[in-house]
Amino acid sequence: MTKPISIPRRTSRQFRSASARRTEQALREAEHRYQSLFENAVEGVFQTTPDGRILLANPALARMLGYDSPAELVAKVTDIAEELYLDPSRRSEFEQRIEADGTVHAFETQLRRRDGSVIWVSENARAVRDDAGRLLYYEGTVEDVTARRNAEEALRESEERYALALRAASDGLWDWNLETGRVHYSPRWKSMLGFRDEEIGDRIDEWLTRLHPDDDERVRRELEEHLGGRSTHFESEFRIRHRDGSWRSVLSRGLAVFDPTERPLRMAGSQSDITKRKVAEERLLHDAFHDPLTGLPNRALFTDRVGRSFWRARRRDDYRFAVAILDLDRLKLINDSLGHVAGDRLILTIARRIEECLRAGDSAARVGGDEFAVLIDDLKDPSDAIRVVSRIARAIRTPLTLGGQEVYTTASIGIAYHGTHYERSEEMIRDADTAMYAAKAAGGARYQIFDAAMHERAVSRLRTESSLRRAVERSELRAHYQPLVSLADGRLAGFEALLRWQHPERGLVPPNEFIPIAEETGLILPIGRWILREACLQMTEWNRLHPAGERLTVSVNLSGCQLGEADFVGKVVRILDETGLDPSQLELEITESAIMSDTETAIERLGQLRGLGIGLAIDDFGTGYSSLSYLHRLPLSALKIDRAFVWAMSAGSRELQICHGIVTLAHDLGLTVIAEGIETAEQRERLRALRCEYGQGYLFAKPVPAEAAGSMISERIRF
Ligand code: C2E
Ligand code: MG
Ligand code: MG
Repeated sequence: MTKPISIPRRTSRQFRSASARRTEQALREAEHRYQSLFENAVEGVFQTTPDGRILLANPALARMLGYDSPAELVAKVTDIAEELYLDPSRRSEFEQRIEADGTVHAFETQLRRRDGSVIWVSENARAVRDDAGRLLYYEGTVEDVTARRNAEEALRESEERYALALRAASDGLWDWNLETGRVHYSPRWKSMLGFRDEEIGDRIDEWLTRLHPDDDERVRRELEEHLGGRSTHFESEFRIRHRDGSWRSVLSRGLAVFDPTERPLRMAGSQSDITKRKVAEERLLHDAFHDPLTGLPNRALFTDRVGRSFWRARRRDDYRFAVAILDLDRLKLINDSLGHVAGDRLILTIARRIEECLRAGDSAARVGGDEFAVLIDDLKDPSDAIRVVSRIARAIRTPLTLGGQEVYTTASIGIAYHGTHYERSEEMIRDADTAMYAAKAAGGARYQIFDAAMHERAVSRLRTESSLRRAVERSELRAHYQPLVSLADGRLAGFEALLRWQHPERGLVPPNEFIPIAEETGLILPIGRWILREACLQMTEWNRLHPAGERLTVSVNLSGCQLGEADFVGKVVRILDETGLDPSQLELEITESAIMSDTETAIERLGQLRGLGIGLAIDDFGTGYSSLSYLHRLPLSALKIDRAFVWAMSAGSRELQICHGIVTLAHDLGLTVIAEGIETAEQRERLRALRCEYGQGYLFAKPVPAEAAGSMISERIRF
């Protein structure tokens, strides 16, 4: 490294004055040179402050910006960003770049001149700081690059034009002289249709006779509209026949020239091949309206097709059709046991089988996971639909092998016939759906034809369902209580709590009119919790009112789904805690079928409930599965003989035998027996003779509101 030049610190006075003079002279000369450079430079030179003022400018910069002198420029401009920069945010960018790097180089921006005209400049600048690093000002040069930028702009435009021209070259052109009737078709127009130049003449028919029959009328109309001055331009997409017989989709655009009387003289335009785009569009359209697995139409397209049949039916008196909805009965089971891949294969196979059963004009769709729909077209007779549906049902039933295993499924089918009462396709599909549900409810593997009564039922159900939802919130539910009587001595042993719905219009609704709906909709869970709590509260209240009385029980009915509810046992425990009822005073009644739906869970939960000291009774015993084999596995405390047996009980009858059998069986298992539906003194006597412990029935009392039940307790009633 070279040593920095050091200036001698001490010099003789004489020497200093001589050299000082020389230095001064040299400085003045240098300054002068710089001054001249500054004054005469072609580039603009500046010093500007960070707050947007100009400290120093040379004449070139003043000229560039349209000011008479640098002094004028410095005086007039007080905010560079706002007054000089066309886009003030570019000034911030300029400052940020200097801030970050210390300099900017070839920073191009647009400046506004004094007369409002705009120029492009390129700036080089740096920040000048004091010893402490504080920013003092920026200094640098400005070059006017407007001419270069304009040239670049022109180049870009011409490139665009070139690209446009290129595209135009791939378009066919046509030019129609309406006075001579001749059309000039460009070679490209002809090759688009597979023809060489000389193979196509100069008549408009060369175009129009090649139109797709479905587009023909529309395109001619659109041309006429434009030629008649009724449209600003002609623009039309249509299919046109290629030499090889295929259809090409094209977009044609054109414009006519008119004489002063508005007679068209000439019309010219272009034609571009949009086949690729159309194919892609059709693919998208297809996907939007088809099921990806089977390729069958989906619900939306099916509904549309039914709509078309509606339309046809309106125009043709003798046209009849039907809609069938098919629901596979066992798909869930197959999915669960063999997996979804097998399930998908089953659906695919069935889709193909359904298609094979259709007649020309019929169409099939997949409208849900395991639901298909069929439009049965042009019926000669209503039985035609049944024939088609039966054929499909047979085809579906045929076993197939999936994953080495032979499986089969059946379908529940609902049919709706078109009739004048339908206004929309959705209504008809909905009715076929309703009929399908009826077929399913009847056990599946069958078809059901929709009728008006079914519709009535469906509507009334729907109404019940929505008002039932509000019944809980609006406290429209009531608990009635029916006494349980000790048959040996007629003492009151307890009550069964039975639900009632105090409907604002319908009055007191019995449970069989709403419990099945509550079970289907899941509403039974809140309702079941409500009556359980209500019954427990009522019983604690009775305990409080009659502390010296005998301990009674209260029985509450459970639906099967309640037993499967998450943390059901915990919920019962909480209700007992909150109401303070002793578990031994609560008895839960459950039917055999409720247990059979999920036996293992039921057994486990019933065990837990029984472990708490809660009584458990099988309700309606003898009507359900009557599978005696599982009885001993259930942690029960009682059996309730269904009232059908009690009712039919007379001397020597089979029912008497059955009652006898049930009582013996129950006693063998250590269970007590309650007979339901005792209506006569004779029935009571016979049951007592069989040593049935308890009875319940109209002979003693009908279910009554809580107050009436309370009076029975306080009166120490004897039955
Ligand atoms: P269930 O549990 O077998 O109730 C006995 C039904 O027999 C009651 O009908 C009762 O009024 C009726 N009954 C009692 N004695 C006689 C009689 O001597 N003759 C005749 N013909 N009938 C008698 P209800 O109150 O209409 O209840 C019908 C069913 O609704 C009940 O049958 C039960 O399965 C269900 N249910 C009632 N309340 C509830 C509840 O809170 N939850 C659940 N899940 N189901 C309930
Ligand atoms: Mg019951
Ligand atoms: Mg019963």
